[in-house]
Amino acid sequence: MAMTRSLAQGPAALARPSARAGAGPPFSFAAGAGPLPRAVLRKLRADLACHRGTGGSLLDLPFTSLAFREEMERAEDNLRELLSIPPGYDVLFVHGGATAQFAAVPMNLIGRSGQADYLCAGYWSAKAAAQASRFGQIRRIPGARGPGALRIPPPGEWAVDPLAAYCHIVSNETADGVQHQAVPETGAVPLVADMSSEFLTGPIEVARYGLIYASAQKNLGIAGLAVVIVRHALCSTALPGTPAVLDYRALAEQGSLLNTPPTFAISVARRVTDWIREQGGLAAMRNATLRKSSRIYAMLDSTGFYRPTAAREERSRINLCFSLLSPELEESFLREADRQGLRDLKGHPACGGIRVSLYIGMPEAGAITLAEFMREFERRFG
Ligand SMILES: *Cc1c(COP(=O)(O)O)cnc(C)c1O
Repeated sequence: MAMTRSLAQGPAALARPSARAGAGPPFSFAAGAGPLPRAVLRKLRADLACHRGTGGSLLDLPFTSLAFREEMERAEDNLRELLSIPPGYDVLFVHGGATAQFAAVPMNLIGRSGQADYLCAGYWSAKAAAQASRFGQIRRIPGARGPGALRIPPPGEWAVDPLAAYCHIVSNETADGVQHQAVPETGAVPLVADMSSEFLTGPIEVARYGLIYASAQKNLGIAGLAVVIVRHALCSTALPGTPAVLDYRALAEQGSLLNTPPTFAISVARRVTDWIREQGGLAAMRNATLRKSSRIYAMLDSTGFYRPTAAREERSRINLCFSLLSPELEESFLREADRQGLRDLKGHPACGGIRVSLYIGMPEAGAITLAEFMREFERRFG
């Protein structure tokens, strides 16, 4: 978001260190794209004008050049190190965001039995299941419905079908603000997770998953790129008719260079993962995520003026959703916040209310400033 705004102001704004590089507002709490870490933005500004080693711009690096190969290798090495990815997994850089993977996952994996299980806890898992149902028999496992009810099917109340080619979850429901608190147990059935909004916000145990995918614009950089981490042995039975650009095996064989990859998005991912390493890795990201979200939840839980919409046991540390007494009050909340540089707080259209997205690029100062604003807003209108 911050990147887009800077670009809109023209090249002069890109070159000049501005107030945006400081610790104050504006802050974007958008669900996508998330803000880039400000240190990464500064690096990108320099590399856009003159990329180290080549003297050209990072924007137009040829994908066949040594300089770009280095960007991509470094991005992959960083991910392998940060996530402790065990041997036997491919890391693919692909086009089309997470949405392309809603189709690519069944096209590549469902062939083994023609059926798959989808845990449906919110907006994005419903989208994924709808796409998948074009390629095989999809069993939807819904969470409980009704106000205050758990949206993530609780362990013990469902069992994976042993005939399923895989079981799909959305680890953090970006629109609804609910997050799996534990990795579901699926036995021998490979677990597939859309981690778009949760990716890199804390350590995960990759070996528990057959496949993980995430679009980049939440925590890994900018839109147009998705990362797929897949157990190599699963990639052998793509459905006939699978386009080459969605075929995991073909992508792995070509090192994701089947066609021109989203080069700039990959270079941004490299710089974001460099930055995460400098910050102390995923343990540091988890601690920062806990600190930021605790500040906001402390406000949400303090009185009753703010009404968190997710059940306490499953609420998200990354997308925090709540409502206010009336739509009019929500409107003035959004208007007042925007006036103070606290932007993009409107909830997902399917869910309404207010949503605070706290991706890794959101500085702690953003959460502190928002919490102060919320206290003041409640004092005036509560
Ligand atoms: C944002 C998001 C998507 C969609 O990503 P695109 O890059 O727009 O395709 C899918 N799933 C989840 C969980 C998301 O948060």
